[in-house]
Amino acid sequence: VINFNKSLNLFIKTDVAKYVEAFDSGEIFDRAVLAGAINHGLLDAIFTSKGFANDGLFALAKILEDVSGVCGNSRNFFLVSCGMFGKALERFNKNNFFVEDVYEKIRNGVAIGAVAHTEKSGGSDHRIFKTRLTRSNTGDFVLNGHKTWITFAGIADYFLVSCFLGEDLVFVLVPKSSLGIEIKLIESLSGNRGSGIADINFDGVVIQKNQIMPSMCDESKWPIFEWIFSVGRVLAASSAIGLIKASIKMSFLRLKSRESFGKKLIESQVWQQELAEMSSQLRAIECLRDISLNYLDEFKYDFLNSDCSMVKNIASNLAIQAAQMNVRVHGAYGYLESEPPNRLLREAVSFEFIEGTNYVLNRKIFAQISGQMIVQSGKNK
Ligand SMILES: Cc1cc2nc3c(=O)[nH]c(=O)nc-3n(C[C@H](O)[C@H](O)[C@H](O)COP(=O)(O)OP(=O)(O)OC[C@H]3O[C@@H](n4cnc5c(N)ncnc54)[C@H](O)[C@@H]3O)c2cc1C
Repeated sequence: VINFNKSLNLFIKTDVAKYVEAFDSGEIFDRAVLAGAINHGLLDAIFTSKGFANDGLFALAKILEDVSGVCGNSRNFFLVSCGMFGKALERFNKNNFFVEDVYEKIRNGVAIGAVAHTEKSGGSDHRIFKTRLTRSNTGDFVLNGHKTWITFAGIADYFLVSCFLGEDLVFVLVPKSSLGIEIKLIESLSGNRGSGIADINFDGVVIQKNQIMPSMCDESKWPIFEWIFSVGRVLAASSAIGLIKASIKMSFLRLKSRESFGKKLIESQVWQQELAEMSSQLRAIECLRDISLNYLDEFKYDFLNSDCSMVKNIASNLAIQAAQMNVRVHGAYGYLESEPPNRLLREAVSFEFIEGTNYVLNRKIFAQISGQMIVQSGKNK
């Protein structure tokens, strides 16, 4: 653990911190960050041992937390390529040489992956998605459709694309080099500017059977779709935790150094109250995140447990509040786009949307609450 923490610190210092401004100005993610992660053994910590799919999830959560406080664009590499993409392949690569081969490339840092789910018609409701996989005359499949807002699409080597096959929503694993793929970067992003966020068009892309991921988790009858996004939500919460910690720390340092009305701002009880409240909520969120990580780690996966959604929701809300407080603490200076408080706020706002918007996840949480109440009222009769 000591070596891991040391390596992580060193990685952030030598390979991440120097890119923050360049990435925020729109320069696309540099694979040198990935090379640094390999050199410091971070990919080995994330993808520990083949066949034990969730080993390394805790290491990944810690990496996300620490990197997120410094550089949101580097964080996105760990969140999407290692987390949602890499961990999904690790879990579902059994007896599929193609998936196993791509997984090895991710594990060794040779390739980057992206998860393509959202469509122009609206990301929250997949039932209205138009991307489809149909059978071709030759017995293969053909993929047609359009995805938008895909983090790392501008740089990734492989995409996990959600699409309908008949009535089923499945994921297909598609190399970027496939014929019929067109990628267009999204301009004028508010934050996450170095993450190669792009639209992808799939026009008659030929897909073979071994590119189609299984649609169900092995140990439960729930779809792989739920599993990928549950992992994404817990990791998004870890990212939010990192951003909250960075905002609190930045605020504290500013309050300690700035004087007003004859005393340091930190001596004001108003700011002490804000910091105390923020830190208390942060602690509660960390506990729920750890419970959710355990829950994923032990494969206790069933639809009714919505801890992963809960922690994503409350962590993202607090991240936005903490980033706003940090801007407030810095006064007008916090309003400057080139300064860290402003960047943290722009990045925090995206947590509301990623891996399912907070309102939409609340539907899942409400389903669990109402289900429990119905069961409870039956027992009390
Ligand atoms: C920085 C960033 C990175 C992203 N990266 C990816 C990626 O890598 N891959 C990917 O597939 N997508 C990605 N997305 C897209 C993201 O997943 C979507 O933005 C999200 O799913 C919401 O979809 P939408 O933006 O179309 O909002 P909409 O679905 O149009 O929703 C609009 C608003 O209405 C609310 N709403 C929707 N339905 C309901 C309802 N039934 N009840 C109450 N309120 C509702 C939503 O909460 C939201 O506030 C990214 C987005 C951002 C900002």
